[in-house]
Amino acid sequence: MADYLTWKKVVLECTHRLTQRGALVGSGGNVSHRIPGEDKIAITPSSKDYLTMKPKDICIVDFNGELIEGEFRPSVETGMHLAVYKNRLDVNAIVHTHQIYASIFAVLDIPIPALFDEQVLHLGSEVAVISYGISGSPDLANNVASKMDNKCNAYILKNHGALLLGISIENAERNSALLEKTATVYYHALASGKPISTLPESSISAFMSILIASQQAKTSELKER
Ligand SMILES: [Zn+2]
Repeated sequence: MADYLTWKKVVLECTHRLTQRGALVGSGGNVSHRIPGEDKIAITPSSKDYLTMKPKDICIVDFNGELIEGEFRPSVETGMHLAVYKNRLDVNAIVHTHQIYASIFAVLDIPIPALFDEQVLHLGSEVAVISYGISGSPDLANNVASKMDNKCNAYILKNHGALLLGISIENAERNSALLEKTATVYYHALASGKPISTLPESSISAFMSILIASQQAKTSELKER
């Protein structure tokens, strides 16, 4: 059996760093990690303040959404997290935030195009907007699942927030910061009213190939376990 406490600590420490950065506020947003070799995840509980939380408060949930270990109710967004893990074998960690600049695009319902090399290399060719579904609803989980084949690591949840994926928790966390930087620049660039320059197609496909190769390497590593 996997060492659940290790993964509980990994998830909790990530919530603390995200809270310090302002990406998570109070109990808003959530973080999860795939348990290696098992169809289970470690995920933050619902409506608990991250700064007063203990590692044992993090929930272990199976791929059917059943609570395996933990005293509290798992995040209401557990279904959305599971929809990602089931559809993307390259993903080992997920960060869901209500971060400010990405949330501006969530209410504008505007995707973010490819603007920077580092953005495409880590987040993918665009930051797509996922259709609205009430928090915790099967609709939202289905809307998320239907976007997973674009192989990107960052999404905007319409009228809600942001969803970041990673081959590791450091990766998902870094992607949250990178999305916020990209969204901030794009917002101010749009506000200038001047034309926006996007990356050439040749750069997008070159960086996307590198991203997909790293995802495939991680996927085969998982399958070999
Ligand atoms: Zn949320």
